[in-house]
Amino acid sequence: MSKANFTLIGAGLTGPLLATYLAQRGHSVEIYERRPDMRKESISAGRSINLALSARGNHALKEVGLYDKIKPNTIPMKGRMIHDLDGITHLQPYGQKDNEVIFSVSRAQLNMELMTWAEETGNVTIRFNHQLISADLEQNKLMFQLSDSLEELELSFNRVIGCDGSASILRKSIVEKADVQYVKKPLGHGYKELTIPPLESGEFQIEPNVLHIWPRGNYMLIALPNNDCSFTCTLFFPMAGATSFKTVKTEKDILDLFQSQFHDAIKLMPNLVEDFQKNSTGDLASVYCKPWHLGDKALLIGDAAHAVVPFFGQGMNASFQDCSTLAKLMGQNENDWKTIFNTFSSVQVENGHAIADMAIENYLEMRDHVNDTEYKKRRNVELKLERMFPGQFIPRYSMVSFHQIPYAEVYQRGEKQFKIIGDVLKADPSGQSIDKAMVEKMLIHLRIRNL
Ligand code: FAD
Repeated sequence: MSKANFTLIGAGLTGPLLATYLAQRGHSVEIYERRPDMRKESISAGRSINLALSARGNHALKEVGLYDKIKPNTIPMKGRMIHDLDGITHLQPYGQKDNEVIFSVSRAQLNMELMTWAEETGNVTIRFNHQLISADLEQNKLMFQLSDSLEELELSFNRVIGCDGSASILRKSIVEKADVQYVKKPLGHGYKELTIPPLESGEFQIEPNVLHIWPRGNYMLIALPNNDCSFTCTLFFPMAGATSFKTVKTEKDILDLFQSQFHDAIKLMPNLVEDFQKNSTGDLASVYCKPWHLGDKALLIGDAAHAVVPFFGQGMNASFQDCSTLAKLMGQNENDWKTIFNTFSSVQVENGHAIADMAIENYLEMRDHVNDTEYKKRRNVELKLERMFPGQFIPRYSMVSFHQIPYAEVYQRGEKQFKIIGDVLKADPSGQSIDKAMVEKMLIHLRIRNL
């Protein structure tokens, strides 16, 4: 029998953060993680894979006191640097204010800091090499396999929280046990991580303070900067079809693709073919699940509850916001776990679904629309409207990345704002002049309030 108040499954990004919130409120926590301790052993998550951290993630890190430790190791990115087919580049800023930037952070480093921070509370123990294989939610029993000995181990729990990512085993048990709506929607596109190394002099080969994108219609390549002056590139590409991971395999296929589509990038990637053939292909899917809890004994959080495709750079940020929201509910409902889990689930499920949908829409924008004249015109009008109606008209990207506005509200406001932009362009297709009085009326009519 575990004596801990809480048993968490998974010491990825969400588990240790949630454990810290719980521990700081006096609860004892045990985390069971299937992998070995990455602070001691070099495992795949230790490669220089990075993530975009934005306002929601930063807010949670500030709440648990870890932000000041993470911040110095992040690299600000002020916008998208678009690489056209002919090699010409142009910057599309993310926002209009100096502080409207997102931050590239090393996944492994952040994960390690989060684990250490959780342990330093004195209330958190992480047990590595423990893989959850099943959960008996009636008898409060968890079955683990120990990855070093392959032995099986049964443990009891008081309350269990699944932070075990998109293929969550705890979610599977909750879905089997309760009346849960669950669907996993594959995107049909996957990804491959590649690298742009630093110059021999140790400097960045290309501009570091941006997120580079090579949009190519049905697929795209992106690159985020690392502290060692390399870039982690990700090729998002169809899993099957005429031009896909199924057809691009040999050295010739890879070089043909890159020479024809990414010829300014290929020069920067001396290990392209080796990386492409050696690195695994990741699959992408969105998880929609409702509710996220079973009574007061089991809860899902982070990717386990709402895996989203990575095109808004929000999976981790959303997961961190989950932890912050749950902590707020703990404060409001002292130890009333039934109310805490129930309210958390009913508040956050729609936010999880909204960011899952917006992330898919953003894939189309990033890989295809960013270079359309129509998109550029709409974006121009959007930025003008933001200047005209500050605090009231906020571009959707900014609401997601620079604010704490719940995602479901962002989605609704975004739809209404989309309509306003359309009407402005109907009145003047060039988007040069904006009828302020007309927009004012629409803002009132559509009930877009000041934030
Ligand atoms: P994970 O990070 O997946 O952690 C789950 C943990 O549980 C792991 O440590 C795993 O080993 C462990 N585990 C799994 N099963 C078991 C088991 N049965 N027993 C015990 N332990 C188990 N998000 C952003 O905010 N910004 C980005 O820029 C961004 N970029 C991304 C790029 C890519 C290519 C991908 C795929 C995702 C990206 N994300 C991004 C999303 C982000 O990675 C996830 O949202 C985030 O990792 C979720 O954290 P988590 O702890 O819930 O899940």
